[in-house]
Amino acid sequence: MTVASKLPAVGTTIFATMSALAAQHKAVNLGQGFPDFPMDAALIELVTKAMRDNHNQYAPMPGWMPLREAIAEKIQFLYGTTVDPDASITITPGGTYAIYSALTAVLHPGDEVILFEPAYDSYIPNIEVNGAVAVRLPLVYRDYRIDWEAVRAAITPRTKAIIINSPHNPTGTVLSFTDIDELRKIVANTSILILSDEVYEHLIFDDIPHQSILRYPDLAERSFVCFSFGKVYNCTGWKLGYCVAPSSLMKEFRKIHQFNAFSCFTPTQIALAEFIKNKEAYLSLGVFMQERRDFFVQLMQSTRFELLSSHGSYFICGRYNQISDEGDLAFATRLTKEAGVATIPVSAFYADGKDDHVIRFCFAKKKETLELAVERLLHC
Ligand code: PMP
Ligand code: GLN
Repeated sequence: MTVASKLPAVGTTIFATMSALAAQHKAVNLGQGFPDFPMDAALIELVTKAMRDNHNQYAPMPGWMPLREAIAEKIQFLYGTTVDPDASITITPGGTYAIYSALTAVLHPGDEVILFEPAYDSYIPNIEVNGAVAVRLPLVYRDYRIDWEAVRAAITPRTKAIIINSPHNPTGTVLSFTDIDELRKIVANTSILILSDEVYEHLIFDDIPHQSILRYPDLAERSFVCFSFGKVYNCTGWKLGYCVAPSSLMKEFRKIHQFNAFSCFTPTQIALAEFIKNKEAYLSLGVFMQERRDFFVQLMQSTRFELLSSHGSYFICGRYNQISDEGDLAFATRLTKEAGVATIPVSAFYADGKDDHVIRFCFAKKKETLELAVERLLHC
């Protein structure tokens, strides 16, 4: 049987491809973004307890209320904003699902969505599967900043939304207050929505504050803000996250969610309703991960790779032009097979495969994993 593909240009995501290649060649996997150290045992205990206590049936469609209340308290504490846990927070099976649901809830065929490349690879297929049009603007290599004049020039009467992502995957750049101010000026007096991907909200380094959209009521009132517990609690395999949006937008979001997942795994929600109150667990994450970034950067100085800067996320990008003039996919593939280190070619984050000969390394790893990887990279 053949069908007319809804996403003819889409193949298998680079994360699945590179992780499979890493497993096949027993490579150290610095490709797909996930920690290789254990999550907090106390959180595992709470999940186990929830299951033993018979919390094993469907959670309410928008999520376990005590968890939503605890999230609202956290938002108040971190960003000084009051969010209604009943009408404005929905628990989702991961951040990626939250992004998909938000876009699907609002996009009509022909709508335009502005996004910045390199971009997390789900954004464009999520737009296109809804018949909408991705308007791709470049983050300018090498510091990967947003050119706000280019954003102004890209706005048309069909612009439905702008997607931002800070801290940014794959480059590790973070938006500043000035960026937020530019965004504010651009959307003021328009009906443009914002989708803010903040899954790395706590993975931010060098004492830089996270510029959550939730800090700014005039922006929050037009935004879907997406988060991931996987990133906060070192459990990416849990695929649990949430979306925050004003009630009018959340009403549409739930129309999509209720006929897709409907609700999420109950025991983790019950466990997190308790565990999220432990502020130290999330407040300490940036310093913990910064230490890994610094450790990796220092080790990499002995190699012929040239790292760019990263101020957040799990990731740092690097150039390999002293080693090879191959394209980044060919180079990353060869590096996995021959050197035994898997990475992600940054061209995978461009719809047209733009190749600046840059690869992405994930440093959310045990120190010994990073040491083993760099030992192997020394020979390149
Ligand atoms: N956005 C970005 C930029 C990411 O890197 C990730 C990590 N996979 C996500 C969203 C979503 O995370 P998840 O679906 O695993 O919660
Ligand atoms: N966010 C992770 C990354 O960028 C993993 C995404 C995925 O596997 N879909 O590596």
